[in-house]
Amino acid sequence: MYQKNPFKLTEPLIKKSCDAKTFGRGEEYIDAVSTLTLRGDEISVKVYGSMPRPYRVKISFNQKDWKYGDCNCPADYRPCKHIIAVLLKIVREGVDSIEPTFEDSLKLLEADALRNLLVTLVEKKPDLIDDIQAILTGDPKDEDELDADYEADSEFDE
Ligand SMILES: [Zn+2]
Repeated sequence: MYQKNPFKLTEPLIKKSCDAKTFGRGEEYIDAVSTLTLRGDEISVKVYGSMPRPYRVKISFNQKDWKYGDCNCPADYRPCKHIIAVLLKIVREGVDSIEPTFEDSLKLLEADALRNLLVTLVEKKPDLIDDIQAILTGDPKDEDELDADYEADSEFDE
């Protein structure tokens, strides 16, 4: 059995990370959080709100900065109620499963399986072919953009 809350996360810690109003709103959203799958030290999850499309919350637990998790909602402060809802669900109900990171699961695939994966992805999302071509041909402008994305993503890495 895995630990259901492997982050030493507690409700008082979560409460300290936000104001009382956000904490209360977060509590109301716990049931709107989809299945919690931990990949490596990251959780990426959907939170269903009043909008037709759910918000996407991503929290990395490798640093003390878990409370600055990403959310694509329009609130201009963090943690927002969606991040709080995910953190509270972890504390109260635990994570549902623990999987290898996306990168680690790719490492297990043979070259043929990887090629099939890419072909299937491009069939589903034809726009991806432009991104893939840009990476393959090393278009410098796109590469800069990719670097910028990468740096923004890894801000809290060691
Ligand atoms: Zn949010």
